[in-house]
Amino acid sequence: MTTSIHALLDRVPTQLLIGGEWRDASNGGTFIVDNPATGDTLATLASATQDDAHDALDAACAVAAEWAATSTRDRSDVLRRAFDLITERAEDFATLITLEMGKPLTEARGEVNYGSEYLRWFSEEAVRDYGRSFPSPEGTLEMMTRRKPVGPCLLITPWNFPLAMASRKVAPAVAAGCTMVLKPAALAPLTSQFFAQTMLDAGLPAGVLNVVSSATPSDISEPIMKDPRLRKISFTGSTYVGKKLLELASQNVLRTSMELGGNAPFLVFEDADIDAAVNGAMQAKMRNIGEACTAANRFIVHESVAEQFGAKLATSMRQLRVGNGLAEKTTCGPLINSAAVDSMAELVRDASNKGARVLCGGTRGEGAGYFYNPTVLVDVPRSARAAQEEIFGPVAPIMTFSKEDEALEIANDTEYGLASYLFTQSIDRIWRVSSGLEFGLLGINAGIISNAAAPFGGVKQSGMGREGGAEGLDEYTSLQYVGIKVER
Ligand code: NAD
Repeated sequence: MTTSIHALLDRVPTQLLIGGEWRDASNGGTFIVDNPATGDTLATLASATQDDAHDALDAACAVAAEWAATSTRDRSDVLRRAFDLITERAEDFATLITLEMGKPLTEARGEVNYGSEYLRWFSEEAVRDYGRSFPSPEGTLEMMTRRKPVGPCLLITPWNFPLAMASRKVAPAVAAGCTMVLKPAALAPLTSQFFAQTMLDAGLPAGVLNVVSSATPSDISEPIMKDPRLRKISFTGSTYVGKKLLELASQNVLRTSMELGGNAPFLVFEDADIDAAVNGAMQAKMRNIGEACTAANRFIVHESVAEQFGAKLATSMRQLRVGNGLAEKTTCGPLINSAAVDSMAELVRDASNKGARVLCGGTRGEGAGYFYNPTVLVDVPRSARAAQEEIFGPVAPIMTFSKEDEALEIANDTEYGLASYLFTQSIDRIWRVSSGLEFGLLGINAGIISNAAAPFGGVKQSGMGREGGAEGLDEYTSLQYVGIKVER
């Protein structure tokens, strides 16, 4: 590692943030964070225990009333300062993201832009926390609604967008006047630690945001979620863990936001602009090395253009440069760990055994890191695991259809309902097919649609609730209806 990287890592807090102080875990426990491109150790972090989880919730509860009473302008100003600070520190954030998660530096810079936009967006939304006022139909009451902070929240984030997944939760919670305990993923916690310090530097008062990274996540979630003072859990991660947390949340009837797994269909019709569809496919599949909940998972292509689409997609995939994301020429970084590489190899083997052909890739990459070469599979049967499961890596399975109804049926044949993509030049088809797609997000002739100003979230087993947009603030507020008797 270069001196500048050592110097950057030295500036990242490695302890727990509780009540505004960085401190060690109560039992002195630690865990290690690796660089997936090299296998090298990046840092040793304090690993929070159940006692630390209690302390973090105590800290969040201690300042909850005071923070809820602050003005929306004050909260907006903190968020705006945090946006400015992240922009100043953009290169540090991008380097940390690449170091701990692997994505190429250019994409990490993109995540810094995207993630910081949540702070700017919610600094603007904070002061627009509107209610309504209207007369009762009988004219005997003046009826008002107002929004109040939901209260102390537990925020649990995944490793794949280490800044954006944290800012997408922290920013609306701050805007709404909630206090928080944040538990980042143990595989990539450094960006969140640095983000938390940046929030303090922006003037966020002690105790509003507490951070408990931990190698044993249920030691954090269980005690906090069983404590009646917690009011909300917001989770982004796998559907498997989301279901466990929903069970726990039911005990105290917590408000829940769940951003879970995806299995996005990418539909290409015979009237699509095929070059545009291939560009969109590269973005939708290969952004974040395929490790995105919105990643195109199943390419469902009309039989008359499938060969052309597959050949062009394979040409673009072959041009990707696999390697350490810190090298400027790299366009495809490592996967998060060796299990993820094994999982790609297994999905490709399974599809091949069931009749799929490998157009490119299908092999592990070289080097000490966790590399898998960008892969295109054609003639993939619906029975293949790659056509059914969330892939989360650089493998693109192509299936074919002949009729529009069949395409829609294949697309919806999944328990997930997060992102979907549709490529066609027919306006009629856009309306027909988009109304039939059972997904929370839909890109039409577009491969990337995430935006801080848009409500992000899924249906079915992809979760509930929306992050970003005006809706993102609702998730952190409770509505109170007030009826005032009027004499006429
Ligand atoms: P994961 O479910 O394994 O972990 C997510 C978080 O939950 C991590 O912080 C982890 O430490 C924690 N966790 C794990 N077990 C827990 C437990 N028993 N109690 C409390 N916390 C626990 O997911 P991951 O591998 O980090 O992320 C990949 C998954 O996240 C994919 O399924 C992806 O689709 C999903 N994801 C969804 C969105 C979205 O917005 N819908 C965004 C990004 C990622």
